[in-house]
Amino acid sequence: MTEKSGDALPISARGITKTYGPVHALDDVSLEVDSGEFLTLLGPSGSGKTTLLMVLAGFTRPDRGSLKFGGREMIRTPPHRRGVGMTFQSYALFPHMTVAGNVGYPLKLRRVPKSELDARVERALKTVRLGGFGGRRIDQLSGGQKQRVAVARAIVFEPRILLMDEPLSALDKKLRDQMQIELRHLHEKLGMTTVYVTHDQREALTMSDRIAVVNHGRIMQLATPRDLYERPANRFVADFIGDSTFLAVSRSGGRILHDGKELLLGAPVPEAGELLLMIRPERISLSPEGPRADANNFAATTAEVVYQGDSFLLHARLADGGMVALRGATRRGDAERLPSVGDAVTLCLAPEDTVLIDGSGS
Ligand code: ADP
Ligand code: MG
Repeated sequence: MTEKSGDALPISARGITKTYGPVHALDDVSLEVDSGEFLTLLGPSGSGKTTLLMVLAGFTRPDRGSLKFGGREMIRTPPHRRGVGMTFQSYALFPHMTVAGNVGYPLKLRRVPKSELDARVERALKTVRLGGFGGRRIDQLSGGQKQRVAVARAIVFEPRILLMDEPLSALDKKLRDQMQIELRHLHEKLGMTTVYVTHDQREALTMSDRIAVVNHGRIMQLATPRDLYERPANRFVADFIGDSTFLAVSRSGGRILHDGKELLLGAPVPEAGELLLMIRPERISLSPEGPRADANNFAATTAEVVYQGDSFLLHARLADGGMVALRGATRRGDAERLPSVGDAVTLCLAPEDTVLIDGSGS
C-alpha cells in the first residue's frame, strides 16, 4: 500500500436520475472523474451529494443513467463487487469491536486468511498514522482517530476508487485543517481515484484537483478550484464559493455599462440575458489618490468598517444604492489610514478583476 496504485480507475456517470416521490435527489447528472483524480462534490445540505456517492458505491440504484468504472458498466454490480472503499457521513464504525476488528472487517468479508489479514490491517493503520492502535477499543479514541480508523477501513483492501462522505464535518476546526492536509497526502501516496463530499467551500478549495458544485440534484459547474473562484459560471457558484457582491450592469452595443459608465473589461462578456458584475472583496481596493485612469472607479460612501485582526472589512454604498464589500490587509497605523463611517471613498477595480457572470435564474 506504499506503492501508488497503478490501476486507479476513471469513473463515467451519464444521465443519472434518482427521485424520492416528488424530490429530484439527482436530476440527469453526468460526471467524468479521471483516473487518480481527487474530485470533490460541493453543495449545500440536501443538494444530492450523498445520493450521488451512494449511486457510485452501489447502495442506491438510480432510476435512470449509466455508470462505468474504467469502461465497465456498474449499475447492476453490487457494492462489494465494485472495488470501492467508502467512508460514511457518520463514522459507521462498529463500537464493540477493536480498531483492528473494524479495519480488518472488509478483508474478513473477502475471506483473506488471518495471517495476511493482520499484516494488512497493521499496514493500513500505519498509513493513517495509527500503527500499534489495533488493540484499542473504538470508544477510547478521539474524533480524529476514529476518522482515521474509518479511512483505514476504506483503504485496507486497496480499492481503486475511494469515496468519502463529509469525513471531517464532526471535527473541530484545527483538527479538520490538519486532517485535510493528511488526507490529501494520503491520496498523493496511494493515487486512487477519489470522490470526496463536503459542504465546506474552503475544504473543497484546499483538497481538490477539481470541484463539482451541486445544487438541487444538478451539477452547476465542474472546474478547478482556481477557475471556480475566478470564473464562476453563475450566481449560485459565485455566492457559494468565497464572498462576493454583485452589481447590475447593462449592455449597450458592444459595451457594458454600470450606472451609465462604461466598464473596462479583462475577459470576454458571457452570452446571457442578464449580466451581473461580481466583485470579490479582496480584489477591489481603496484609492486614497482618487480615480485611476487604468481601472474601474466607483465613488462611494463608507457605511461600515470592521477590524478583524489580520484584515479589515469595509462596506461602501454606491451612488445608485448598491453595496460593495472590500477586504484589505491591516497594517500598523491603520487607525489614521482607514476611512470612517460617512467618509467619501474611491473604490478601484482593475479590468482583469472585472468578472461578469450570468445573473439569470439567481
Ligand atoms: P446531501 O448529501 O447533499 O445533503 P442527500 O443526497 O442526502 O443530500 O439528499 C438529497 C435529497 O434527497 C434531499 O432532499 C433528501 O431529503 C432526499 N433524500 C435522500 N435520501 C432519501 C431517502 N432515502 N428517502 C427520501 N428522500 C431522500
Ligand atoms: Mg449528505
